[in-house]
Amino acid sequence: MLSVKEIHTYYGNIQALKGVSLDIEKGEIITLIGANGAGKSTTLMSISGLMHPRSGKIFYQNMPLHLLSPEKIVSLGIVQVPEGRRIFPDFTVMENLEMGAYLRSDKPQLKKDYDYIFELFPILKDRKRQLGGTLSGGEQQMLAISRALMAKPKLLLLDEPSLGLAPMVIKQIFQIIRKINSEQSTTILLVEQNANLALQTADRGYVIENGLIIMQDKAEKLLQNEEVKKAYLGIV
Ligand code: ATP
Repeated sequence: MLSVKEIHTYYGNIQALKGVSLDIEKGEIITLIGANGAGKSTTLMSISGLMHPRSGKIFYQNMPLHLLSPEKIVSLGIVQVPEGRRIFPDFTVMENLEMGAYLRSDKPQLKKDYDYIFELFPILKDRKRQLGGTLSGGEQQMLAISRALMAKPKLLLLDEPSLGLAPMVIKQIFQIIRKINSEQSTTILLVEQNANLALQTADRGYVIENGLIIMQDKAEKLLQNEEVKKAYLGIV
C-alpha cells in the first residue's frame, strides 16, 4: 500500500532522516518506535506531505506522494493525527468533526459516520456543543482521532496518541485504534514512545535511531528482542 524508499528529510541544514525506508501492507497496524528526536514525527510528516524529503521517494498505490501537496495526499485517504492533538480549541466538538469531513463529496454518508464516531466515543456525543479547548486531554485525543476518521482515511497516521494521558484513557484509546483497524479496514501507522504498548497493538514494527531504521520485525518478535527490551522497554 505504502512504500517509503530511502528518504532524506532536513530542517534547513539539520538532517533529520538519513535514508528511511519502510513498507506497509493494506490492513496492517505498523508501529514506528524510537527515542526522542529519532525522526518519528518527521517520517510521518514526510508521508503526509507536510515536509518534503530532499531525496528518496514515497509511493502510495503507485502514486508519488513525495511530489504531491498535503491537500492532495489527504484527498487520497492518508490522514495524520498530529502529536499534541491540535484540535481547533475555539470550535465546538461538532465543528471540529465537520472540519474533518471538509474535503468529502459524499455528504449524504456523513450522518452514518457521525453515528459511528459517537458509538466509538460516547463522551463526544455528550459534549457535541462544547468548545474543543475545554475538553480534557483524553477527550481532545478522541476528538483528534474522530476528526481524522471523518475524512474516511484508508491510511491513518497517528503521532504519539498516548502522550500526556492517564493510563486508563490510553488503554481505551488503544482499544479503539484496534477496533478502527478491524471494523473499518483502516491501515494504521502508529508512532509511539510507549514502545511496549505500541508493539502490543501492532502487527509489525520498525525501530528508528538517529534518522535511520535499525531494525524491523513482527511486533511479537521485537517484544522478545534483547536489544529492544533493553533500549525501549526498560527491561534489563
Ligand atoms: P519526539 O518523540 O521527541 O517527537 P521524534 O522521533 O518524533 O521525536 P522528530 O521530531 O522527527 O523526532 O525529530 C527528528 C530530528 O529533527 C531531531 O534531531 C530534531 O531535533 C530535529 N527537528 C525536529 N523538528 C525540528 C525543527 N522544527 N527545526 C530543526 N530541527 C528539528
